[in-house]
Parts: sequence; structure tokens; C-alpha cells
Amino acid sequence: MTKIMGDELGPDYKVGIVSTWELNPEITEEFLSEIWKASTEILPKLEVQVVIDNNDRLHISSGTAGYVDFKVDPIGMKLPIKCWIHTHPFGSAYFSGTDIRTVSIWEPMMESAIVLGGNGHYGVWEKFKPKQLIIYRDYEYERVQLWGYGTYGYGEEE
Ligand SMILES: [Zn+2]
Repeated sequence: MTKIMGDELGPDYKVGIVSTWELNPEITEEFLSEIWKASTEILPKLEVQVVIDNNDRLHISSGTAGYVDFKVDPIGMKLPIKCWIHTHPFGSAYFSGTDIRTVSIWEPMMESAIVLGGNGHYGVWEKFKPKQLIIYRDYEYERVQLWGYGTYGYGEEE
């Protein structure tokens, strides 16, 4: 069983995410849709973060409508992280300066990351190409966001 960790908002928004994962522990369109739903319909446009650890356990938390720092409770989390998923409930999938700093710092201990901006609208980062985010819209390739050494954090909202 995936442990549903409590937080200040209570665990209710996590139920759909967790039950979808327990039926099929893979990152599917349905799984991402559940996370998006939690972030926009269940919670009032709050950012939701789901970390899938190396034991396929979920670590779910939520934050403010804006950007929250990558939050990891190392207790019970098996590294490396398989995937860090978080939402942009305002509806745009790209990496903020904060997000780029997070993957840059966590690159040795993180295999992949996904930012969600809607159903079928998401960006995918992978460790083997750590300076780019592939962005999809309506489940189809839209564009690549690139950044370079020393440039992250500039020209993007914090
Ligand atoms: Zn973000």
C-alpha cells in the first residue's frame, strides 16, 4: 500500500491519485489527469507535487497557487527519485527558474520530472538530457524549452 502522508490540507485530494497508481503503478495519461484534477478541481488551484521514489512509492504534497520549493521528506523515501511531478495550476507547462534549479541540483538523484499545465499539456525532463524540457499540448509535441549553464533563473518567472 502507498502510504498517504497527511499534511495541512488533509489527505482527501490524494485518494484519486493513489488509487489510480495502485491499480497500475505507471505514469499514464490517467494518472497525470488525476494529479491535474486534484490540483484544479479538488483543491482550489493549489500546486500538487508527487514524487515517485525508487520503490514506486508516492510522496504527495501540495502548496500555494504559485511556485513552491521542491519539498522532499527524506524519511521513507528511496533514492534516486524516479519521477518528480508537479502542477502549474495556472495552466502553463514549462520550467520556472526555480524548477530548473531544482532539477539541476537533484540531477544526480532524479531520473525524470514532469510539469503539468493541463490535461494533455505537460513538460517532460529526463536526466540523460538535463538541459531541456520537452513540452506537449493535447498529448502532442509542441516545443522544447532549453537552458544552459549559468543561465537558469534568468528570463523566467521565479
Ligand atoms: Zn514549476
